[in-house]
Amino acid sequence: MQFILENEGVIRLSVFAGVFCLMAVLETVRPRRKRSFARQKRWFSNFANLAIGAVCARLILPWVPVSVAFYAQQNPVLFEPVLPVVVGILLLDFCIYLQHVAMHKIPVLWRLHRLHHADLDYDVTTGIRFHPIEIILSLLFKMAIILIFAIDPLSVILFEVILNAMAMFNHANFKLPLKLDAVLRLFIVTPDFHRVHHSSIQAETNSNYGFNISLWDRLCRTYTAQPQDGHETMQIGLEYFRDPAQLRLGKMIIQPFCKKEP
Ligand SMILES: [Zn+2]
Repeated sequence: MQFILENEGVIRLSVFAGVFCLMAVLETVRPRRKRSFARQKRWFSNFANLAIGAVCARLILPWVPVSVAFYAQQNPVLFEPVLPVVVGILLLDFCIYLQHVAMHKIPVLWRLHRLHHADLDYDVTTGIRFHPIEIILSLLFKMAIILIFAIDPLSVILFEVILNAMAMFNHANFKLPLKLDAVLRLFIVTPDFHRVHHSSIQAETNSNYGFNISLWDRLCRTYTAQPQDGHETMQIGLEYFRDPAQLRLGKMIIQPFCKKEP
């Protein structure tokens, strides 16, 4: 445990790079869907968007979630720091599920979150495609939860590493054997599970909000098992953002401020 706390940066970077490379290889070897666009066309924009979000968050926010967790251990605000590490991880996961639902239901938040849904292909880089303002709001929300419940720093680090890895795994365009998918999705969010959430059919977009464990969607009745048009032929994205020009970085950054596709 001490090792994780002391080597947080290296662990985060290694898991990110390792899972990203593994997913990129699996997408090449066992693709689930035919790509509509060449990787290079989308990957630069999706990565650059992530980099801008990370730099903005570093410049604007004076804290990171784990520093808030250390603070809360010494200065509990509402609850004493008594949650076991696993409970802390599950609590964070449920709160991020609720935040995701709010991102869809509250119009001003949807303006930010729709960038994630406007990607016209679905692959490992879709999992990192969040508007910089959404990244900052998300961090603030997470820090508030950590402060209120005095969540253990170890829970926070593990949750962030798992969330990061799972976001790349469940957005990856690779085909898991269907029987394996059926077993895994009883517990965790698989690529086929989450792809439904990226359907351009609104009822499907507004389902399968979970990122890590699949329980929350089942409990809250937001679970859709499969897309009505099938995984290989379903339309990915949003009906009103179909122009490939929208995949460019500049268009992505201003997208929340556009009423509809210009
Ligand atoms: Zn969403």
